[in-house]
Amino acid sequence: MATVTLVGSFNVDHVWRCEQLPAAGATIAGRYDTGPGGKGFNQAVAAARAGAQVRFLCALGDDAGGALARGLAQAEGIDLRVQLGDEPTGTAGIYVDAMGRNSIVIGAGANGLLASEFIAVQGEAVQTAKVLLVQLESPAETVLASLKLARENGVLTVLNPAPANAHTYAELLDQADLLTPNETEFSALLARHVGERVEPDDVAALDGQRLHALCREVHPKGTVVITLGATGVFVSHADDQHRGDGKAFYRHPAESVTAVDTTGAGDAFNGALVASLAHAPQAAFAEHVRYANRYAALSTERAGAALAMPSQADVLARFG
Ligand code: ATP
Repeated sequence: MATVTLVGSFNVDHVWRCEQLPAAGATIAGRYDTGPGGKGFNQAVAAARAGAQVRFLCALGDDAGGALARGLAQAEGIDLRVQLGDEPTGTAGIYVDAMGRNSIVIGAGANGLLASEFIAVQGEAVQTAKVLLVQLESPAETVLASLKLARENGVLTVLNPAPANAHTYAELLDQADLLTPNETEFSALLARHVGERVEPDDVAALDGQRLHALCREVHPKGTVVITLGATGVFVSHADDQHRGDGKAFYRHPAESVTAVDTTGAGDAFNGALVASLAHAPQAAFAEHVRYANRYAALSTERAGAALAMPSQADVLARFG
């Protein structure tokens, strides 16, 4: 199995399902649930279940949340490299209303202390991977150090620029071979780096040539893969690097599934994409997109994020 290394976040998610989101000053009733989360961990589990050998570099507290992460990583066969700190393990407080809308508060905790020095100490884990996948729930300088180290060693770099409100300075984008925003994140990147206003809801409907041109402005030298929810995916390659696709841009439609919970669909897509890239780096890029698109579609048929990720066998059984 080919190795994928992730650098990112682990959170303990505390979820309250309630009729309406609580207003300021209100006390309301809700159904409580807890489980693992964090974009880094969700994507690590997806990559492992999608068929990759996974190393996951993260920061945890010396507490029950940290123990949860270690136990789950072991069960998933993920090689966990932990920076232990004085802060508690990251947490997310999530309220979900009857319409499926949510309000989320993140307590970064240990995630906020993940240090570039730790990445340097664990350098071999990055240098010897086939693919590096990072998100923006860790300090920007740590994400940048990870991308640079990977790049210097010929490792393919993938930046999932999520969440949308995180700081994405141009140097981060420059270090990524692939950029994988959803519509909201792409809209934020356009506003920040190109000075162009396109509402998230309008991204999918843009003419292909226009969307490609905007992708080229956001990320001139690399590939951009925009995930478009139930609409599928848009891929835009740099002019001199079509990654075996033979064309500069295209749409790939979503699979037809009965979606019950799309939480973590983006994480599923990213994990499966890097697992596929690591497994068959010479394959046409469209093949990797097809696999990730199928994997992510299946993930929406089950409620939950990390623990609801499908296996490689599930994808084969469903789509052949
Ligand atoms: P999240 O933030 O909840 O993790 P996201 O907004 O980052 O999700 P989306 O763009 O909604 O990610 O979805 C990622 C991918 O998952 C899509 O590109 C598609 O491949 C698949 N997907 C999502 N929703 C559906 C759906 N309803 N039917 C089929 N596939 C879906």
